[in-house]
Amino acid sequence: MSYNVNEKGYYGEFGGAYIPEMLYPNVEELRQNYLKITAEPEFQAEFDALLKDYVGRPTPLYFAERLSEKYNTKIYLKREDLCHTGAHKINNTIGQIILAKRLGKTRIIAETGAGQHGVATATVCALMGLECIVYMGEVDIKRQAPNVARMKMLGAEVRPALSGSKTLKDATNEAIRDWINNPVDTYYIIGSVVGPHPYPDMVARFQSVISKEIKEQLLEKEGRENPDYVIACVGGGSNAAGTYYHFLDNEDVKIIAVEAAGMGVDSGESAATSALGKVGVIHGSKTLLMQTTDGQITEPYSISAGLDYPGVGPMHANLFKTGRAQFISITDEQAMSWGLKLSKMEGLIPAIESAHAFAVLDEMKFKPEDIVVINLSGRGDKDLNTYIDYFKL
Ligand SMILES: *Cc1c(COP(=O)(O)O)cnc(C)c1O
Repeated sequence: MSYNVNEKGYYGEFGGAYIPEMLYPNVEELRQNYLKITAEPEFQAEFDALLKDYVGRPTPLYFAERLSEKYNTKIYLKREDLCHTGAHKINNTIGQIILAKRLGKTRIIAETGAGQHGVATATVCALMGLECIVYMGEVDIKRQAPNVARMKMLGAEVRPALSGSKTLKDATNEAIRDWINNPVDTYYIIGSVVGPHPYPDMVARFQSVISKEIKEQLLEKEGRENPDYVIACVGGGSNAAGTYYHFLDNEDVKIIAVEAAGMGVDSGESAATSALGKVGVIHGSKTLLMQTTDGQITEPYSISAGLDYPGVGPMHANLFKTGRAQFISITDEQAMSWGLKLSKMEGLIPAIESAHAFAVLDEMKFKPEDIVVINLSGRGDKDLNTYIDYFKL
């Protein structure tokens, strides 16, 4: 059994492309071309060169000595926080912008909630000199002013979504409407392993550089390629997909997925999709999502904007359903206290999303000889105001 996507675009029962007919030509163009183009040596060479010299890859695999001592196991951190723009998201936007160029597209659209994917998209559009339009809910524009300013500096146009709750799902609707109206010249960059096939697979492939490097780096440091555990936080699931990718079908490597419990799984203020979600369709794919009994999407909650998403990518829905991955949900309070702890113990101020992953160390027992790799998906600069308010710093 494989936990990777099949040729029809499914992970077990999850995935596929549940899209309006008018979107079909756009998605079909992508589906027919993405594997062919990304396999071309010229594509690979351009992708690798930009990852190296622009993003700063390979990111280090850092042995966290003080943490390891305290938890009596071997803990390595994959340092995605050192990527240009501060997180793993740029690995994916670099891949998709090269693909867009090769498809002859001149206009890029994206949607963003917290603004991190908008910034990563605006960055690569500036790099390539392409027009960039980012849809963002009006409420989110007010909440995320520094990222809106970054996008503007990078030359992107930020268009407010004024309908519904004026947040991420409304921005997504606007982006899809735009794509339907501009099928020829426009490319839609999706920021996580969500959306209709082929997006989840394509984004997972671009992020898979994370686990490719982990294998090479562990071989050098430990004399073996495979850790005992890989741990990552899951919003939509792209940093996690990248961290797991080359270990998916090797069941000796245990996979831990960490979701945001918010105020608590049963509090009504949560984003723990595996615990609370039911099968449904969101963003064009069949997956697990938080919804009411009549199928309306529930507004999720987490203190970390990047985990505040009502669904999870189809790969992760299948990892949950099959039991291949163990899912753990971590509250705001646990994550915030790890934000402080990691800062004090290792001199690393994590993104609040990433801080969730570390709380697994309090929830699980590891053996002294275990090799545990935690993906530090991003740095905490963007979260400083949240840390200041929370800890009265
Ligand atoms: C966006 C973001 C996430 C969540 O997105 P995934 O697609 O689940 O990886 C996690 N960590 C950081 C630092 C982010 O910026």
